[in-house]
Amino acid sequence: MTMNGVCFVEQIGNAELFERVGHYCAECYREFAEGEPIYYDMQEFRYLCRECADRLSQRMNERCEVVEEERAATLF
Ligand SMILES: [Zn+2]
Repeated sequence: MTMNGVCFVEQIGNAELFERVGHYCAECYREFAEGEPIYYDMQEFRYLCRECADRLSQRMNERCEVVEEERAATLF
């Protein structure tokens, strides 16, 4: 388990929630599926899919600060 549970709030996506927060991951723009767990990023105030939240949490320190830049990955 690599997920940093302190930095993200897990919620199960449903139509009502998507209506409020949007249907897409703020990082990879993938559309959320109903019933899928989505993750609220408390630092950036945005919702992420599990893959993105997981990847981001690995770059965070214990205060949820992103300590490792990932510039190469933003090029595509
Ligand atoms: Zn994503």
